[in-house]
Amino acid sequence: MAQVKSAAFKKASTRALHDQGIQHALNHVMNHFTEARASAIAADYSDESWDAMRTRAAAIKAHTIGNLDYYLDLADRSIRRNGGHVHFADDAADATRIVIDIAKRHDVKRAIKSKSMVSEEMGLNDALKRAGIDPVETDLGEYIIQLAGETPFHIIAPAMHKTREEVSDLFHDWLKSAPTSDIARLCSIAREALRKHFETAEMGITGANFVVAETGTVVIVTNEGNGRMVTSTPRVHVAICGMEKVLPAIEDLPVFLRLLPRSATGQRTTSYTSFISGPRGPSDEDGPEEFHLIFVDNGRLNLLKDEVLREALSCIRCGACLNHCPVYRKVGGHAYGWVYSGPIGAVVTGPMTGMKQAADLPFASTLCGACRDVCPVKIDLPKLLLHLRHRLAEGTGSGERAGTWMERLYIRRWHDAVKTRAALDRSTRLGRLLQKPLVRRGKVRSLPLPVISGWTKDRDFPALAPKSFGEIWRDGLGPAREPE
Ligand code: SF4
Repeated sequence: MAQVKSAAFKKASTRALHDQGIQHALNHVMNHFTEARASAIAADYSDESWDAMRTRAAAIKAHTIGNLDYYLDLADRSIRRNGGHVHFADDAADATRIVIDIAKRHDVKRAIKSKSMVSEEMGLNDALKRAGIDPVETDLGEYIIQLAGETPFHIIAPAMHKTREEVSDLFHDWLKSAPTSDIARLCSIAREALRKHFETAEMGITGANFVVAETGTVVIVTNEGNGRMVTSTPRVHVAICGMEKVLPAIEDLPVFLRLLPRSATGQRTTSYTSFISGPRGPSDEDGPEEFHLIFVDNGRLNLLKDEVLREALSCIRCGACLNHCPVYRKVGGHAYGWVYSGPIGAVVTGPMTGMKQAADLPFASTLCGACRDVCPVKIDLPKLLLHLRHRLAEGTGSGERAGTWMERLYIRRWHDAVKTRAALDRSTRLGRLLQKPLVRRGKVRSLPLPVISGWTKDRDFPALAPKSFGEIWRDGLGPAREPE
């Protein structure tokens, strides 16, 4: 599995906040995505009709996730009927072993890849290299970060943090091309370099945006056409996806094909939508001789088992929640330390990889609700983040408790202090007395005691007002009472 570095979230965020290049890229690209999304929706839909589509998509996903075993079994039977092979992988290592076994059987020396976030989870490129197979990413953004030896910065724009000059330097180093800052020229350089890989690779590896259970159809949406090349030119096609990607029937697909591109890039439709229902048939002009689909768990069952968190399995990886998240917009994707970033990354990383190392992520949110408002499948991300915070505070799983004993002691005392009106009034009077030596111009500049002193390390703490609103109200601000 790809290395998880989420425990370093705070340090990595601080670094990103001071990185001018990252800040510039985030400001520029995030605004572009949010404006493009808003215009694309407004051009075709009223608020009501867009909301109705989101409701329908959420209902389809909830139904499918609620009956996942049935639909996975149906997809399995349909794909086998079409002449394909289906595998179920418990974890990243299992999925990697399956891919390498298939590659070895076909004596594969080079595998071309279309974008697949699950293959990022698996750390597949490194594993293929160790097995003597040369993996080549063919999505332009993925190709750039492969050359740079990095992980994706964003779910749909993996190299958005790279400037054209940085890309030119990478191409110069790896492909010996002349330096240029012309984007069209950079695209041609990549196209020329990739063309020979398309012609020679024995295996194509892709993700799957959706898998239609009834027909056994893998649906892949791309903008560069590389997905179509990867699935049609090599002899073997291996698609890898999370087991939640399944949809019941072909009638369920159109609503997602409308929601996904508008939410992701602000396009009405993606440039290429490929439907693959198995290996090449006798009358087909192209396509692979052998087709495999690997459904991967890799921690998804942990989400499914939790009645609240299972909603996260509805995610269609559009990236809209990242683009609208005030935290992601400042710290970017690498700070989250694993494959998924932004609000959805903060929700799924812990349950999928272990809560202990991702314990800071559920707190990387202002809970403003922007992510929930834009999510095309109406995932209530703030609710899920709060649920994880609750789990971390209460320690409902072994090793998951994030709070120290002192934090828990403070919270218990806080609870005692505010649990009734009388207790709150008493605590407020005591607080006013105790804060007196600490207050300067209406602010407490430095709180005492461990843990709470952390609050005033970087900011002020507002002093308790001389009178509460209730006291002012009782003293005559409230409406005059009728004499009894
Ligand atoms: S949680 Fe919603 S908004 Fe975020 S990536 Fe998934 S589908 Fe898109």
